[in-house]
Amino acid sequence: MLFNFGIKTKTLGTKDMLEYQCPSCKQFGLRSTIKQSYFHILFIPTFPLPKTAFVECLNCHQPLNEDALPDHDRAKVKKDKKAIRAPLYFFSGLLVGTLFLIVSTLYGNYVTNQDSKNTTAFLQQPMQNDLYVFLVEEEGYPYALYQLLNRDGEELLLQAGNVSYKTLSDAKQAISTGKTAAPDYYYKEKVFVFTAAEIKDKLASGTLLTVIRPSNPVPLQPAFQEGGLYSIENKNGTFAIAKLLVLNDKAAHIRIYKNRFDTRPTIVDPATLELGTTAGSKDYGIGHLPFTRVSFFISDPHFIMQTKVTDEELDGYREWEKAKGGLFGEDEQKKTSDGQAEGAL
Ligand SMILES: [Zn+2]
Repeated sequence: MLFNFGIKTKTLGTKDMLEYQCPSCKQFGLRSTIKQSYFHILFIPTFPLPKTAFVECLNCHQPLNEDALPDHDRAKVKKDKKAIRAPLYFFSGLLVGTLFLIVSTLYGNYVTNQDSKNTTAFLQQPMQNDLYVFLVEEEGYPYALYQLLNRDGEELLLQAGNVSYKTLSDAKQAISTGKTAAPDYYYKEKVFVFTAAEIKDKLASGTLLTVIRPSNPVPLQPAFQEGGLYSIENKNGTFAIAKLLVLNDKAAHIRIYKNRFDTRPTIVDPATLELGTTAGSKDYGIGHLPFTRVSFFISDPHFIMQTKVTDEELDGYREWEKAKGGLFGEDEQKKTSDGQAEGAL
C-alpha cells in the first residue's frame, strides 16, 4: 500500500527505583520502562503521543499498574517520565510540515510581489503579445486573457482570448504551456481599445489582475506615422498593403494597394505597389479610404516601412475634405464603446 500510516512505539529508557517497595512481595527495588508512541505517515513521525511507563518489581517481576502505585511512587514515575525526552525525530513530520508551510507562504508572497512588480513594469514598457488577465463576470470561469496587439500613443489595443478559466493558476498554465501563443486562441473580431488611464483604473479596482509577459514577446510597432506602409489582413485571410496618408486625432486616411499576399508580408518594394484601375474587379486598390483612427488601429496593421506621401496621393483626401465626407467606423466605434460598458469588462 502506498499511503502507509499508523502508530509505532519506542522504548525511551529505563529508570531504577531501588529505594521503592514492591506492594506485592514487599522487597525493595522497582524498575520503570518508559515508552512513547508516535503517529507516522509514510514512516515519517508526525506527532508523539503521551509517554507510558511499565513498572515491575525487580524481585518478583510482578508488573505493577502505574495508576495503582502509592502516591509517592507514582510521583517518582511521573518525574522519570518527564526527565526522559523524546528524540527529535519524533517531531520530524511536524518540522517538515511547518517548514513546508513557511516556505510555501514565503514563495507565495514572492510570486505575488514579483507579479505586481512585473505588471507595473509591463504596463510602463508594453510589448506585443503581453497577456492581460482580467476578472470577468463569467459564472465559474472568471479569469479571461487578453493579448496586447499594439499601442498607439496612450491607447492600448487588446484582443480577447476565446477561453476563460476557473482559477488564476489555470490561466497562467495556459500561458506557460504555450496555448495562448496559438493565433486561433483569440477572437479575431473582439478587439478593444483602452487608454492607459483606463487600464490603470482597472488595475486599481482589481478588474485587471496582472500582466504576464509570454516567452515570445515582440517589440511594439512604431507609432503610426503618415507615410507608413502597413500589412493588413483581408476578410478572406489574404494580406494587403495599406499606406497611411493622413493621421490626426480622429481620422486615419489610407490607401490600399491591389497587391495581395498569402502570408503577412514583412518587406515590400514600394515600386511594386499598384492601385489598379478597374474598380470592382477581383484585385483592385482604393486610392483613399477615410477611417476613424481607432478602426484603422483595430484592423491590426503591421508596420513594414516608412515612405513619403506625395502631393498627388492626397487628391482623394482633398476631394473628401471639400465634400465634408464621413469616416468609416464611426457608427461601429459607438457600438463598441457601448458594448464595452455593458460587457464583462
Ligand atoms: Zn515484588
